[in-house]
Amino acid sequence: MPRVLITGGAGFLGSHLCDHFIDRGYDVICIDNLITGNCDNIAHLFGNSRFRFIHHDVTEYLYVAGPLDHILHFASPASPIDYLELPIQTLKVGALGTHKVLGLAKDKGARFLLASTSEVYGDPLIHPQPESYWGNVNPIGPRGVYDEAKRFAEALVMAYHRVHKMDTRIVRIFNTYGPRMRPNDGRVVSNFITQALEGKPLTVYGDGSQTRSFCYADDLVDGITGLLFSNESEPVNIGNPNEMTVLELARLVKEFVKSKSEIVMKPLPEDDPKVRQPDISRARRILGWEPRVNLREGLAKTVEYFRTKVH
Ligand code: UDP
Repeated sequence: MPRVLITGGAGFLGSHLCDHFIDRGYDVICIDNLITGNCDNIAHLFGNSRFRFIHHDVTEYLYVAGPLDHILHFASPASPIDYLELPIQTLKVGALGTHKVLGLAKDKGARFLLASTSEVYGDPLIHPQPESYWGNVNPIGPRGVYDEAKRFAEALVMAYHRVHKMDTRIVRIFNTYGPRMRPNDGRVVSNFITQALEGKPLTVYGDGSQTRSFCYADDLVDGITGLLFSNESEPVNIGNPNEMTVLELARLVKEFVKSKSEIVMKPLPEDDPKVRQPDISRARRILGWEPRVNLREGLAKTVEYFRTKVH
């Protein structure tokens, strides 16, 4: 039976990946320190003999007995409020954590996939963003801890690939939403849905003209697993190019939830990117992948999940 290790496996995307591999007959080992992950996301897998959970911080020495075929490194705070609150942990997991997990992959001869991010492009000066763009990141700003940690992680993965001839993959993940996002994770989709369900004002930061492009979690999992089983060792953007302003999203969520909430403006966080849209030509060409779930369909499933969490 093939064995896969998923770090950050109790998080939003990590837990969907655990499900994906369990459904396909793999043995799955999930590692999480539960700082931002939550056992509720994997509770349904406890008791499955092919699933094992290890409560561990991957910045500390890591040993897993037995063979491993694939390692997917998803451990990291991933929402702006999380990495603003946990700046040192964010830097440590991107740097020390990636180093430990790469070392484990090397020892086991496992294929290694890094969860990277559109944040490597910072506040982009090229739009949409192709993988060839080197980015515009403020290294000392409050967001820099995440951006630079992921940029360092990419550099480390490529060094292990070149020096140790390791089989590696890098996925640059753009804004993603879906069930199992934490209602209080501070991200725009979680905030707007939670606020709309609670009848509270929807908080648009700045004038709401900044753009993002939102991908549904299932599409993202398909893209990531497509990349894992491809031969591509260069970074690949996975996201939905459907770009919209934050204000448009607020109006859509309000309409969707049939909420009477008003929309209020709040200050724009420092270094908040003004635009973001993935260029997914490489994923289309190499993986034959593109997103299938449209925003209304995805929001319906996400709102349904949030209704079970927000009262
Ligand atoms: N945002 C907002 N209201 C909120 C939360 C976020 O207007 O309650 C904005 C935020 O300033 C950013 C965009 O929505 O421009 C996306 O923010 P998110 O935290 O989801 O992720 P980011 O794409 O910035 O990493």
